[in-house]
Amino acid sequence: MNVSASDQHKQYDLLVPLFLHNRPKTVVQHCVRRWVDSENSSLNEIGQTSTSTFLLKSFSEINTSLYYEVCFENDNGMPSCQCLDWLEHHVPCKHLMTVFRNILYFNWDAIPSAYRESPYICLDVGSFPLDSEADHSTTDDIVQVTIGSSGDMYVSSLPIPPKQQFKKER
Ligand SMILES: [Zn+2]
Repeated sequence: MNVSASDQHKQYDLLVPLFLHNRPKTVVQHCVRRWVDSENSSLNEIGQTSTSTFLLKSFSEINTSLYYEVCFENDNGMPSCQCLDWLEHHVPCKHLMTVFRNILYFNWDAIPSAYRESPYICLDVGSFPLDSEADHSTTDDIVQVTIGSSGDMYVSSLPIPPKQQFKKER
């Protein structure tokens, strides 16, 4: 049970957007930082390239010619971003948050439910590999990376921590 992260047991700071309520503490902590980062974003920095993809200028003040493509639903039915943060954690990054903030209807609910309801983002597994030196080698058998004909890489499943970490010692 995620009792400790429930609305009934915790008064949320107004800073925490609604879509993060009743989520694992680790997910909330991770996302709130990105949410704050996206605070000063504006519509000017976003270009819509298709019905579910947006092109966003990098937040970097040094690399001003860098753009990231944010996709609300890619070929695998998952959201995605081209930034390192998304590729490492598969938790909404500041680019996704920027779209949430600025584009009508493209909010958390616009993300495919398969992602929104995945255990990765809903369950409070103590082993959630956030901001730590995650051992990527242990996820090799779960994450399948497919190289498309165009040379693009798609991650076809979420990097769920290895099974043994879910098991309780008996
Ligand atoms: Zn991103």
